[in-house]
Amino acid sequence: MSYAIRFVFAAAAVCALAVYPSAQTLAQGKLTDTIPASGGNIGIQPINHATLQITHGDHVIDVDPVAQGNYANLVAPDIILITDIHGDHLDLATIAKLKKANTKIVAPAAAKIEGAIVIGNGETKTVDGVSIEAVPMYNLTRGPAAGQFFHDKGRGNGYIVTLGGKRIYIAGDTECTPEVKALKNIDVAFVPMNLPYTMPPSEAAECVKAFKPAIVYPYHYRGSNLDEFASALKGTGIDVRIRDWYVK
Ligand code: ZN
Repeated sequence: MSYAIRFVFAAAAVCALAVYPSAQTLAQGKLTDTIPASGGNIGIQPINHATLQITHGDHVIDVDPVAQGNYANLVAPDIILITDIHGDHLDLATIAKLKKANTKIVAPAAAKIEGAIVIGNGETKTVDGVSIEAVPMYNLTRGPAAGQFFHDKGRGNGYIVTLGGKRIYIAGDTECTPEVKALKNIDVAFVPMNLPYTMPPSEAAECVKAFKPAIVYPYHYRGSNLDEFASALKGTGIDVRIRDWYVK
C-alpha cells in the first residue's frame, strides 16, 4: 500500500474515532470523554454498568469497581467511591485487586469496608484535596414486595465530587427524590435507569429536567431504551452523552 493511501486510511480512522468514540476504544481506556476544567481536562471513562473512572490532574477516582469491568489499560485509583451494598456496586475482591497502598476508599457505613472513610448522607469530606459530598439515594416507590424498597433511604450514597471547579454528580441507585430534584450547579451527572430497581428512562429524564445538569450520562441502564431518555431531553440544552457501558 502506498504512503498516500495509508495516510488516507489513517486519517479516516482518526476521524471516525473523533466523531464516534466507539464503545470498544472507551472500554479499553484508549479514548476517554473529556470535559474542560481548571487545571486540565476531566476524563470520563465508562467501565461497566455502574462502574466508571474519573480523572483530573493527579486524581484518579474509580466508582463502584466490580469484576465485570475491564481495568487492563486503566491507571490504579487513588480514591475509590462505593455507593451501595449490592453486587453491581460493591465487590471487595475487585477493590482489593485495584487499590494501591495509599488508595482511599470512601463508602457508606453499610458497606462495612475495613479501613474505609465512612461518609453519610448529607456529609461532605475532603479526601486527597477532593471535596466529596454524599447525597441520599433511595427508592420512593419500588421494592421487592409491598412496603419494601430495593434501596432504603440512608443506606447508600450518591456523590458530588468537585474537580477543577466542576461539580460531578454520581447518582447511584435512586429514584427521583426531593434531594435529587433540589441539586444545584451540577456540571456533569451520571443518572441511573433500569427497572425494577431505579427509574424508567422517562422518569429519569423528568428528573434531569428538574436539576438541569450541563452534561448528563445515562449509566446503570441495562435493558433501558436510551432513545426515550435522549428524546425527552431534546431542546432543554442539556448535553446528553450516550456511551456504551457494557462492552468488555
Ligand atoms: Zn445497581
